[in-house]
Amino acid sequence: MIATLLVGMLCVYLLSFTVMFLLISRRLRGEKMGMDAFAVGNLTLGVAYVLQLLEGPAGWSWMSVVNHSLTLCSLLAYCVGGARFFGRAMPLQWPSVGIGVGYAVVQVLVDAAWGSVARYALLAATCALCFIGMVAVLLYGVRTFARDLRGEVLLFALLISGICVLNVIKLIKLLSGGLAALSMDGPFQMVFYVYMCSLATILPPSIVWLVLRRLTDALRGMAARDPLTQLLNRRGLTEALDAWFRRPNARARLLLVDVDHFKRINDNYGHHVGDAVLCGVADALRGAVRKDDLVCRLGGEEFAAICMGADDAAARRVAEWVRGAIQDKVMLQGPRYAGLRCTVTVGVSHCFGDEASLERAMQDADAALYRGKRAGRNRVEWASPVADAPPGSAPMKAEADVALT
Ligand code: GH3
Ligand code: MG
Ligand code: MG
Repeated sequence: MIATLLVGMLCVYLLSFTVMFLLISRRLRGEKMGMDAFAVGNLTLGVAYVLQLLEGPAGWSWMSVVNHSLTLCSLLAYCVGGARFFGRAMPLQWPSVGIGVGYAVVQVLVDAAWGSVARYALLAATCALCFIGMVAVLLYGVRTFARDLRGEVLLFALLISGICVLNVIKLIKLLSGGLAALSMDGPFQMVFYVYMCSLATILPPSIVWLVLRRLTDALRGMAARDPLTQLLNRRGLTEALDAWFRRPNARARLLLVDVDHFKRINDNYGHHVGDAVLCGVADALRGAVRKDDLVCRLGGEEFAAICMGADDAAARRVAEWVRGAIQDKVMLQGPRYAGLRCTVTVGVSHCFGDEASLERAMQDADAALYRGKRAGRNRVEWASPVADAPPGSAPMKAEADVALT
């Protein structure tokens, strides 16, 4: 009676989470993160348990053959769901039909040859093998494709190991005691169903949590990046700088990079070519800075590189690399673009040591940049000593630059 109640609860859990997975997968247009496959897994396992309630004591029946085939299909669907969550495209429909029908045929043959005990033992052994495979993949994933979800993946591996052990015990009991081992109210089946109920309570919300983590991470990434070049935007830059300046004695220099005569590129070749040039500048910038440095698109054709911990000589080297790399590497293929030249002018700020000084560093670098523009472009200019005076003097310097022209 209690075991029947537990199986009933299991069906309710599985089927209600089928609905939730389906709803989430419908909201996730495009990449569904495996939620559609998880819904199929829950549905097939839920229906398998409904059949178990209907079929009565263990033994030969077509309902039980369908039940075992559905159980195996549900494992396939969970594996496919997991693979899709981690970005591997895997088909579900035809492999499920193949496994469902194929396993039904195997069951009929096994039952005819060795009886129902062999058929039930076959299911327990197959499930145990599948679970061993799943745990192995998850443990491999902790070091490779699922490094960012270490805790969650280890919890999954632990829970699946438990159900694997229970299947091995079921197999041994079946082989030694026959179908009596599967008596609904026997102590082993009770433990089995309590464990399955716990799994059905813990795993589906954990899967929803994983999806939520991925979505919020993606949203945070989108909010911090420029959609055209995938460089940090101003918000992303501020966040990254905030993290950098939490280190003791952290220093940085700002390189303000502005594409020369970019309007001409747009006017002569079209806006889409202008966009391609901006992407080329972004790539060249990424390649020219050092590993810890930050690169950002401030807006339009203005970029910034933050050289972390750089002294004068290192900042000068990076600035020259940036300028040279863009001059040499940003070009488009095709005779139409033979005359297209892309150069940048770079303004370098003074050293600054906290995030609050970023605005000041921008003003320093901006003043230097304007000087570079006026001196002929395609060059690196340093913030002048005047701009290093107390706050407020940098804009004055910029104004002084304008007045000089
Ligand atoms: P200077 O050498 O003095 O910097 O001249 P410039 O032509 O580069 O500067 P200006 O500020 O006159 O022109 C910048 C142009 O950049 C104007 C604007 O239409 C264009 N622009 C801004 N954002 C984008 C964008 O996302 N894509 C494209 N293709 N053009 C953009
Ligand atoms: Mg410009
Ligand atoms: Mg500009």
